[in-house]
Amino acid sequence: MKDSDLLKELISIRREIHAHPELGNREFKTAKVIERVLKGLKIPHKRVTPTGIVATLKGGEGPCVALRADMDALPLTEVTGKPYASKNSGVMHACGHDAHVAMLLGAARLLKNRPPRGTVKFLFQPNEEGAGGARELIKKGAMKNPRVQATFGLHVNPRFPSGTVAIKAGPLMAAVDRFEIEIFGQGGHAAYPHEGKDALLMASELAVSLQTIVSRKVDPLEPAVLTVGTLNAGTRYNILAGSALLTGTVRTLSEKTRALIPKLIRRITEGITRAHGGKFRFEYESAGSVLSNDPAMAGLAYRIAVALLGKAKVLEPGLPSMGGEDFSEYLKHSPGCFIYVGTADPRMKTGIPWHHPRFDLDESALPVGARLLAAVAGEFTARA
Ligand SMILES: [Zn+2]
Ligand SMILES: [Zn+2]
Repeated sequence: MKDSDLLKELISIRREIHAHPELGNREFKTAKVIERVLKGLKIPHKRVTPTGIVATLKGGEGPCVALRADMDALPLTEVTGKPYASKNSGVMHACGHDAHVAMLLGAARLLKNRPPRGTVKFLFQPNEEGAGGARELIKKGAMKNPRVQATFGLHVNPRFPSGTVAIKAGPLMAAVDRFEIEIFGQGGHAAYPHEGKDALLMASELAVSLQTIVSRKVDPLEPAVLTVGTLNAGTRYNILAGSALLTGTVRTLSEKTRALIPKLIRRITEGITRAHGGKFRFEYESAGSVLSNDPAMAGLAYRIAVALLGKAKVLEPGLPSMGGEDFSEYLKHSPGCFIYVGTADPRMKTGIPWHHPRFDLDESALPVGARLLAAVAGEFTARA
């Protein structure tokens, strides 16, 4: 397929989705666009969740590989002023998932034209931002029948120039955990604090003390983040707060540190509330594991990227990010690799970070992602 034809087609798909962004698990219009394109390509597909789609292209008896794109947008008002800007006020594709869908559909077209020697599964995944989309798709059997032996995915990245990709083996993104602590004291008149138990004071002490976990309990050479994102307590200036609620997130890159932190949060919360005669409720949940690229699969992606783009255009992403991605869920079921596709062009001002109301991307990167995914899948399924 000619480069200019592929580019034109992918721009049109990307802009259609970009103009009609939808939040996690509500990607109904997006799913319709995907189904329309897959139908045109005559690739069998199925809705496995209300908006999640799995398409399967079988070219031969070789192994099965999965390629994944996320579909959801963010609750944000777009201010790019572009002709294809969001028509859905308050919702915006500010993470580039519109481009991921377009690139995966491009890969589907390329693989349809040049059938693989095995099976390629195309996973169109809802709700990445809210987390839970990948787990839902896997629960519905996306990685089975036939069993997926490798999974590849990509993310547009405004930190790298368009025309480049960045690939590395090992940890790329952090495990994401979420916690909630409710503190129960005893309310009363602000002028008679000795007759109550000030939950606001306990919560303040806790918010500060939790910071000693990373600074004093975790090995300084181990990356870790603990952020208290919300603290709510009290109703009026002259009323003693009877309860308080803190929520926050923990990011880690190793299972050892990941297992240690909730124990320490509980211990500190217990100590502070006991010291002040209060009680507490503690909830801790995992929203996603460490995203760690398999060395062999990263090696495969690297070799193919060099063959497609030349060595100078294949970059090293550097240190892992403490952000998270639920692509890590697929890597619990098969080895795989998550690839960054550069989208920055200084003239077009597309170097603005993700989740920003001015976020946009250089669309000339769309065929790069599509061709790379198609070539990786073609190569993997050609293995004996
Ligand atoms: Zn995002
Ligand atoms: Zn994203």
